[in-house]
Amino acid sequence: MRSFENKNIETLYSAEDLQNKAKELGAQIAKDYGDRTEELTVIGVLKGSFIFLADLVRAIDLPLNIDFIGVSSYGDGTESSGKITITHPLSKPITGKDIIVVEDIVDTGLTMKALLELFEESKPASVKVCTLLEKPERRQVTVQMDYVGFSIPDKFVLGYGLDLAGRFRNLPFVGVNQGDA
Ligand code: 5GP
Repeated sequence: MRSFENKNIETLYSAEDLQNKAKELGAQIAKDYGDRTEELTVIGVLKGSFIFLADLVRAIDLPLNIDFIGVSSYGDGTESSGKITITHPLSKPITGKDIIVVEDIVDTGLTMKALLELFEESKPASVKVCTLLEKPERRQVTVQMDYVGFSIPDKFVLGYGLDLAGRFRNLPFVGVNQGDA
């Protein structure tokens, strides 16, 4: 039995749903950027995006660079504060680059808004946002989202990179915790 099988986690998107969505978004990105001569830079927001990003970039059939930024967005509580702390900086400058920021989930939108403001300071050539999930009911600020995998109801999800207190990132599916995970 796998470690999560006795937990009360309801599957929202299966491994197959997620693979198909990553392939669909990757193909769309490849199409949209296919005529550019500059190499694309894909930036994963740590930690939650790492599994989605791994599937997504394998579906983008273009030369590209991959970088990561570590962001901590929560203060003491579980609500986003809008203030972000960079826990892991980008490894290369993004000035003049076409960048795609890859997130696991846009919830209130505060983290993405702060991140985009930070990236704009470096004057990239263009910025797009790709998020696997978004919760429209929770949005507090309007935020740019160019590629969205799934819009979901206001429920706490985990798996496929998303955690619950640091655990469950390794679940192969996205699930909703039913209470005792
Ligand atoms: P925002 O600033 O948009 O409110 O929050 C974005 C961050 O909050 C995400 O990158 C993620 O780390 C966390 N988050 C928001 N909703 C969920 C959720 O349902 N499950 C998990 N695991 N994290 C979430």
